[in-house]
Amino acid sequence: MSKTSPKNLDKALNELKNSEKEITRLVVNLIRFKSENPPVEDHDIQLFIRDFLRQAGLGCELHDPGDKAWALTSSFGDGNDGFIFYGHADVVPAGDPSRWIHPPFSGEVVGDRIHGRGASDMKAGLAAELFAYRLLYQNEVELPGRVEFVSVLDEENWHRTPIGWNTSDWLLTTGKLRGKACVMGEQSGIKKVCLGERGDYWVRLHSNAKPRHGSTPVYEDNACVKLFRVLESIHTTITKLRAEPPEDIRGIVYASPKHIAEDLGEAASITHDQLLEMLVKPTMNLGVVRGGTMINIVPDACEAEVAFCVPIGMRRESLHAAVSRMVEESGSVTLELLGESQSDPSYTKPDSRIAQTLKEEAADVLGVAPEFYVTQGTSDANVFRKHGVDTCFYGPGDFANTHGYNEFVSISAVTRIAQIYLKTAARYFA
Ligand SMILES: [Zn+2]
Repeated sequence: MSKTSPKNLDKALNELKNSEKEITRLVVNLIRFKSENPPVEDHDIQLFIRDFLRQAGLGCELHDPGDKAWALTSSFGDGNDGFIFYGHADVVPAGDPSRWIHPPFSGEVVGDRIHGRGASDMKAGLAAELFAYRLLYQNEVELPGRVEFVSVLDEENWHRTPIGWNTSDWLLTTGKLRGKACVMGEQSGIKKVCLGERGDYWVRLHSNAKPRHGSTPVYEDNACVKLFRVLESIHTTITKLRAEPPEDIRGIVYASPKHIAEDLGEAASITHDQLLEMLVKPTMNLGVVRGGTMINIVPDACEAEVAFCVPIGMRRESLHAAVSRMVEESGSVTLELLGESQSDPSYTKPDSRIAQTLKEEAADVLGVAPEFYVTQGTSDANVFRKHGVDTCFYGPGDFANTHGYNEFVSISAVTRIAQIYLKTAARYFA
């Protein structure tokens, strides 16, 4: 079914097609802000984005949820059934600068590539959204709805807000964002649109024992040994749990391993079956272990931080119940929930208006329709979906070069994605 073209859409699109240099410059300028998280040192990048939008006459609001990770929102048009462009302006730390071929905050352009920390995740997507959003407004594209733009500074490491953790959750809870559909310019690559993701369940486990001389024959009565025994039994048990994805997303879940293999790059020696297992069973990462004082003392305390991923079709609460039960049965370990990362898995229906519009407009720009998939990772999309916002994760970067050294993005991908964003927002209401 072909939709009618909103008034002035072609004009805005033509301007966008001639804006490659300006879009490239915007990506470079965004990369030059050292917006590493952790730590968030300032919100200068948000002020820069505010000025970029203000120059076009767009109103902006800056929100202080309690620390330096300020959020920025902007909107135009009327109605509550709005469309949201979501971006995060924070990046993960650049790490050892000597490992970068191009300095991480230089935004150097070589051929079709822009280099630097955040190029892929997600300053290119952010720039493409800003351009699409600004040109829709400047060209007075006729839209029977409200378009919103949001940039947060705590996607890579959630911050505390007056109501809990995560700025997006605070914005949505307090009505500072009101839309019902959202495109996130995160690094899916242009050939595929992410419709779902696993949830996060993070805990800290503690164990105690009596400190003694290391020569005492008490191998089992040792805080580290006790904790490792429990960790092993949790791992064995939870990897036997299996979730059945709901019917309306099942086919996409089962077709996702090939896309995830591409995302994981060199780690793709993992087999198709292992990737599928990862999507339908919980997984567990033992991220941090601290315990013991010195080699000849029986440790009296040990703690471990463990990140579980919850598959689509399972609730975080049921995984928590299973893990808590084993911890209680052990009698020697206690569990503490880590508040900063708890989310249920979520997905947006493939036949939703936003998923279908995005797919059609991407097909029109690219000449081939992108495929839907679900990812093993997590993002703010779980938060948006928790608030009833249909959310698609679709942006110009590639997961394979995200969060590592020598991150880059393709200029031609950014410019095409910007066109897709502009058309999607315009036709979402058509
Ligand atoms: Zn991201």
